[in-house]
Amino acid sequence: MAFNVAIDGPAGAGKSTIAKAVAKNRGLIYVDTGAMYRAVALYILRTGTDAADTEAVAKVCVGADITIAYEDGVQVVYLNGENVNAFLRTEEVGNMASKTSANPAVRAHLLNLQKNLAANNDCIMDGRDIGTVVLPNAQLKVFLTASSDVRAKRRFDELTAKGEETPDFDKIKADIEQRDYQDSHREIAPLKQAEDAVLVDSSDMNIDQVIARISELCDEKA
Ligand code: C5P
Repeated sequence: MAFNVAIDGPAGAGKSTIAKAVAKNRGLIYVDTGAMYRAVALYILRTGTDAADTEAVAKVCVGADITIAYEDGVQVVYLNGENVNAFLRTEEVGNMASKTSANPAVRAHLLNLQKNLAANNDCIMDGRDIGTVVLPNAQLKVFLTASSDVRAKRRFDELTAKGEETPDFDKIKADIEQRDYQDSHREIAPLKQAEDAVLVDSSDMNIDQVIARISELCDEKA
């Protein structure tokens, strides 16, 4: 049976950075499910579909064929055969993903892909519903969080490092809180801590400390 680690938590908690590092030092594949939701959101945006029109999104999302490959250890997301990694990390796509991921058809569309990846690979998978819905039998579940101020500051620094001119901190924080609300109040697979997940609050921890803590938890369960 494959060794599976589930990491859930709100936007900007550092899940992907941490999961990538733990994957590397423990020889696991890193599966970024947010990127899959973002790829579907990109498709919804490109097709000009109204995110509020549940039926239209359900119909259209079926046309988004998402596949995953690993190139030099990096997860590459293909949308209908096109490598779309470069388009996924914008605020526009993230906000759209938060809306469209509440749609049951979108979730069903991606669930099998995620389950299959985990069944066939020792992996660390991050998202919102990994410990609760996608991998309820994962050997280790972590709920990684941080205060919204800390998360907004991290996003701000990330955007500044990417060369974006004068990102608006208050807008970033408001967007994060809006996404937290949407992700945790949706009817299907809401963001919540699984009962058997270990809570890690990284508000006062640096990246290395969080990586060390989660690596240690992996060793306990391996
Ligand atoms: O983690 P990331 O910011 O890339 O995720 C984008 C959006 O995709 C989230 O705001 C969330 O709405 C959705 N998502 C989800 N379930 C997951 C992963 C992401 O609903 N397992």
